[in-house]
Amino acid sequence: PGDQLPSDPSKPTLVVLGSGWGATSFLKNLDTEEFNVVVVSPRNYFLFSPLLPSVTVGTLEPRSIIQPTRFITRHKKRKVSVYEAEAREVDPIKKTVTFRDQTDIRGEAGSVTIPYDYLVYAVGCENQTFGIEGVTKYGCFLKELSDADKIRTRLMDCIETAAFKDQPDEEVDRLMHMVVVGGGPTGVEYAGELHDFLIDDLRKWYPEVADRLRITLIEALPNVLPAFSKQLIQYTESQFKENRIDVLTRTMVKDVKERSVVVQDANKEIREIPYGLLVWATGNTSRQITKNLLAKLPETQTQKRGIVVDDYLSMLGAEGVYAIGDCTATQYAPTAQVASQQGAFLAQMFGKLGQKAKLQRQLADLRASSSDPVELEAVVKKLNRVAKLTPFHYSHQGSLAYIGSEKAIADLPFFNGNVASGGGAAMLFWRSAYISTLYSVRNRTLVMTDWLKVKLFGRDVSRE
Ligand code: FAD
Ligand code: NAD
Repeated sequence: PGDQLPSDPSKPTLVVLGSGWGATSFLKNLDTEEFNVVVVSPRNYFLFSPLLPSVTVGTLEPRSIIQPTRFITRHKKRKVSVYEAEAREVDPIKKTVTFRDQTDIRGEAGSVTIPYDYLVYAVGCENQTFGIEGVTKYGCFLKELSDADKIRTRLMDCIETAAFKDQPDEEVDRLMHMVVVGGGPTGVEYAGELHDFLIDDLRKWYPEVADRLRITLIEALPNVLPAFSKQLIQYTESQFKENRIDVLTRTMVKDVKERSVVVQDANKEIREIPYGLLVWATGNTSRQITKNLLAKLPETQTQKRGIVVDDYLSMLGAEGVYAIGDCTATQYAPTAQVASQQGAFLAQMFGKLGQKAKLQRQLADLRASSSDPVELEAVVKKLNRVAKLTPFHYSHQGSLAYIGSEKAIADLPFFNGNVASGGGAAMLFWRSAYISTLYSVRNRTLVMTDWLKVKLFGRDVSRE
């Protein structure tokens, strides 16, 4: 870090909002020499979300799947400023960002506004609740590290209380009923992890209540995992049946109460299902800051779903703003794969912008010193070459999901077709694919050590 170039007022300011998949891939691939880079995110780390469900039951330790943002920025050519703060407002006309330190223990933090020349907007999404108040009040989400921790605590609360002396039967059944709403990959993976915890550990540690544990997955559509192939949907549903995970399809949760959810089934009948733990995984919605930004550009930003960008990921109607990942409204699914490819693409584009600035300086110098025309021509040619941009192209590497009992499903593009595979081999593939995508050697080592620890000693059920 001591060798880093200091910030240079003659270079443009590039502000990056977020430290998730999109922003991290962008920062990792960015050459910072020609920019003063400022990163603003309420989270000072990157979270490897695909392994988050494993943290909810203690298969993995929380710190094994996160990496400090400064781990990446400290190796950059020019100094990068990283602020742990939440962006509150983007003004696309004045080209400013306003943010605030949410964790200032002195309580003195005011808002700070800085100008940008370029803005990479990668704030992701928040959880969709459809305006049902009980979801936030009584349920748990599965998006952030703190969510996984909350789920683990609530799960142990339910189990310990169910195992407490002389609990009424009905109450034990309620406490031991774990309800997951949303049959997308998040809900399915969580149900799978919970099942493993029951089979591998609960039976050993809480034999008196373990067999009372029930898992119900509620999905509004006719089947779970709508984005996977038919064969893998059937495989997952049959595995769940074998693992005694109840899947209620064509069932929509209409309301959430403190101890029960109100559902409407396919026959439009309404009933209540008591629960001990509720995990809500019904997908994404735009963050407030994104909604406010969209509202400022009503003529060009017409999608409620997120930010509309062109083929080069530039936000329509907002000069200098680029948007990537879950906060955008594109033809692609909101996945880590898309966000990280977009981040890498944008870094390459900024690389070209940087090269262009360098060549333009070189050209101006050459002209000033009236150099020979051959040299001038060569620089002009180089300039024309870097000025050529190709649009973003997404390359789908396949979809993977863990479904419990050491089985995973894999939908992989293969030549011009698709290979769908489910089972133990897919599980090994799932593990190796994630291990190879984990950003640092440190994280890889921690995750593999956690897997080994669980294999040897089981999961830890004690409180932290
Ligand atoms: P995020 O990764 O969510 O990052 C957003 C960043 O913005 C965060 O750092 C956040 O702190 C920050 N931020 C929030 N508000 C502000 C603000 N106001 N100002 C500044 N910064 C802000 N996808 C896959 O492809 N494969 C998988 O296996 C997979 N598994 C998943 C498992 C789970 C449990 C979940 C929840 C998601 C999974 N996904 C998976 C989806 C994937 O995580 C997202 O698509 C991906 O995180 C999107 O990247 P992003 O950068 O757009 O947003
Ligand atoms: P999702 O949008 O994929 O699925 C949410 C599900 O909830 C939908 O099937 C929807 O029909 C259902 N639903 C919505 N409202 C409901 C209600 N009131 N009652 C019952 N069901 C309801 O959400 P997700 O699983 O959180 O995934 C979000 C994104 O992250 C997706 O793009 C997904 O591909 C990605 N992701 C990928 C993986 C993976 O590849 N392993 C894992 C997790 C997430």
